[in-house]
Amino acid sequence: MQLSRFPRVRLCHAPTPLEPMKRLSDALGGPEIWVKRDDCTGLASGGNKTRKLEFLIGAALAAGADHVITQGAHQSNHVRQTAAAAAKHGLKCTALLEQRVETNDPDYLGNGNVLLDELMGCTLRTYPAGTDMQAEMEALAADLQDAGETPYVIPGGGSNTTGALGYVACAYEMLGQAEAMGLAIDHIVTATGSTGTQAGLVAGLTAANAGIPVLGISVRAPKEKQEANVLALTRATAETLGYGGAIDAALIEADDTQVGGGYGVPTPAMIEAVRMFSSLEGILLDPVYSGKGAAGLIAAVRAGRFTKGQKVVFLHTGGSAGLFAYRSTFMQEAIPAS
Ligand SMILES: *Cc1c(COP(=O)(O)O)cnc(C)c1O
Repeated sequence: MQLSRFPRVRLCHAPTPLEPMKRLSDALGGPEIWVKRDDCTGLASGGNKTRKLEFLIGAALAAGADHVITQGAHQSNHVRQTAAAAAKHGLKCTALLEQRVETNDPDYLGNGNVLLDELMGCTLRTYPAGTDMQAEMEALAADLQDAGETPYVIPGGGSNTTGALGYVACAYEMLGQAEAMGLAIDHIVTATGSTGTQAGLVAGLTAANAGIPVLGISVRAPKEKQEANVLALTRATAETLGYGGAIDAALIEADDTQVGGGYGVPTPAMIEAVRMFSSLEGILLDPVYSGKGAAGLIAAVRAGRFTKGQKVVFLHTGGSAGLFAYRSTFMQEAIPAS
């Protein structure tokens, strides 16, 4: 399995740290909880899409592209990191934003990731919830081609076999770090949405025969649907890698108990998780993905799923820029005057 066979640009501050979370572990009283800091990938406030974009922008440049098109929710972290990667490589960037979360909150509409997209020179267009976003991207690509440009379409979340290679690379990186520090990882927990992160991780861990299960905490889709989607991309990614073995469906697990009212809708458990990570560890989660992912981890620990002494790694996929879009969720009272 040689990742250097694939076109790639370097965007990521790697390796990202793999650190113990002592105070959080003590507070929960269960397993030893570690964190893989992919919130620190370094590109315009970081996050998991940066790893995927190393291969996606690599492929775009190899194809001679001059204009990258992608899509996401209004507060997409993926769009923000794509805008940054495109800016760094001198590519134009147009992002199609689906109004997936129903709100008129001015912070949601104009702060957080959207503000950063604007700063990085990304052209933004908005679409109503339920729009066939892939079809809109393809229509735009056809228009740009007619106008003499060379567009490259990156799917939502950067989740195809090219993007998932970024998480194959992360799996290898984490195994190397764990070996160097003598850390035997029992389980990995991560948020899962468009599936590329979990699929790449499972493909990489399986190709390396690591024997480390991955639990995905769904932020949107029901369990069965999420597991089917992750499995399909894991199999396709393993094939792209040249891995000859079969990917057993039993390797894919998604938990949908943290979705709550739906994608991007805050839950009490997410708010508790964001406050625990920030107040105990000084680590910032986000309201849409890593906050719900951490809520899933906390719920699993409280339910006794992991035993004392086990080592559980939470893959922190980033997203803290999204906190500024959810000010009203967290700051409900004014700071008292002295
Ligand atoms: C996109 C995203 C995820 C989900 O990763 P997928 O590869 O889409 O499943 C998790 N956390 C954050 C912060 C994200 O932006």
